[in-house]
Amino acid sequence: MNKNEEYIITIEDIGADGEGIGHIADADNTGGLSADDFGDTKDKRGITVFVKDTVVGDEVKVKIIKVKKNYVYGRLMEIIKPSPYRVTAACPKARSCGGCTLMHMSYESQLDYKKNKVISCLERIGGIRDAEGLVEEIYGMDAPYNYRNKMQFPVGVDKDGNIKIGFYAGRTHSIIDLDECITGHKVNNYILNNLRIWISDNYKKDKSFVYNEELHKGLLRHIVTRVGFSTGELSVCLVINGDRFSRDKSRDVKIKEELLSCLKDAVDEYNKFYLEADKKAVESNGDYKVKLTNLSLNINKEKTNKILGDKNITIYGEDYITDYIGDVRFNVSPQSFFQVNPIQTKRLYGKALEYADLSGNEIVWDMYCGIGTISLFLAQKAKKVYGVEIVPQAIEDAKKNAVLNSLTNTEFYCGKAEEIVPKVYEETGIKPDVIVVDPPRKGCDTTLLDTISDMSPKRLVYVSCDPATLARDIKYLSDKGFRLKKAAVYDQFCHSTHCEVVVLLSGKQK
Ligand code: SAH
Repeated sequence: MNKNEEYIITIEDIGADGEGIGHIADADNTGGLSADDFGDTKDKRGITVFVKDTVVGDEVKVKIIKVKKNYVYGRLMEIIKPSPYRVTAACPKARSCGGCTLMHMSYESQLDYKKNKVISCLERIGGIRDAEGLVEEIYGMDAPYNYRNKMQFPVGVDKDGNIKIGFYAGRTHSIIDLDECITGHKVNNYILNNLRIWISDNYKKDKSFVYNEELHKGLLRHIVTRVGFSTGELSVCLVINGDRFSRDKSRDVKIKEELLSCLKDAVDEYNKFYLEADKKAVESNGDYKVKLTNLSLNINKEKTNKILGDKNITIYGEDYITDYIGDVRFNVSPQSFFQVNPIQTKRLYGKALEYADLSGNEIVWDMYCGIGTISLFLAQKAKKVYGVEIVPQAIEDAKKNAVLNSLTNTEFYCGKAEEIVPKVYEETGIKPDVIVVDPPRKGCDTTLLDTISDMSPKRLVYVSCDPATLARDIKYLSDKGFRLKKAAVYDQFCHSTHCEVVVLLSGKQK
């Protein structure tokens, strides 16, 4: 098989990143490779082909773009017969943008795909036999658009000197310019529009105003926004490769004044148009009027993929915004993690609380607690909740949030869970009744899993944004005697391949 050859195939399956999988049956055309060279993937159906932007059931013409030893990558050239699950993506940039890789699948088939992905990880990686019977449901959204409370837009300049603000194209760092993103809060469209003018004006005066990632030169790197969906409070954070906009003090002040006024205009324009058009949103979210509550600069001078640096400087308003999940109120700083889909988060945390099954007498650990979101939910129903989190700013927020909600039965530690938890356990010997973990994608450190096992809780609730590492950790814990009881999947990130899973494990069988 050679590059640039074209084939017609039918898509039979979807891979972990949402790419379609089909087979090329033409066994003669293998470029001199024998069937053995294709290992398991050269099965009876032929050579495995991965094709982006395709859906199970599509009959497509593909051009081979990369030949690997055991499989090939094809580019979608033509849809000969569309799958019944195929829809026209609601965003015209969906194919080039790396964000919504599933947007060309009907929402229902996106949900099926995510549920099956979780089941398959639990079976293949987790060694769970009846995973299908244990996964209760995938909970999707009624209206899977404009759901995100946080957006992160990289800023750049194209070769003609035009400002680009948007998202990275899939697997690259080239920026797809966007006027609008239909996954985010609508106020972002007005912010992007007005900031584009403000950035262009400054770029015309000073070519180093915008960051160039390749050269690691220039100033403005990212625009990060967050809206409290139940308060309307808006935070705008500009990430810069420097300490200020300009060394010239009066110029620096002027740039900031212009920035503030362009953002206030954006908010006014949003409020004027959408409060009228979005009556339903107003009704369901209470005071939906957006107000600029925090404007800050984040200093990131590193050559890194990490968007935010360690230092934040508030240049207008408060240091944080406020939002609610259910009845619990949270202060959220620009640097702190806060679930991006507020509607689904409330449901997800409700399930975590159901699985924790608290009566009021329990001692609970919430590991990877962020700003204490799950901890405070639990604290309403538990005797005592301990939380641990690595970001100092988030732990400061967690402590303030406990006070804000008059929840005095909490104690927060800042540091790595895998270092703090074993240390606290050794010093106090306290064995929690229930443990909740909500780690980042890479999952839990085995040192932490060992300590969890030693602590021998009655129940372990694991919230995960990556079913593969979740399944790996479940396997590790199963070998120590824990048992998977139930799981529920939540579509927190509609149109992307990601989902959130919450599982209940019973403690070690004695
Ligand atoms: N439970 C919170 C946060 C979950 S996200 C919520 O639902 O909002 C995962 C969190 O783990 C992030 O806040 C991240 O900063 C934190 N984290 C990452 N590595 C960690 C580690 N080794 N120890 C403790 N916290 C860590």
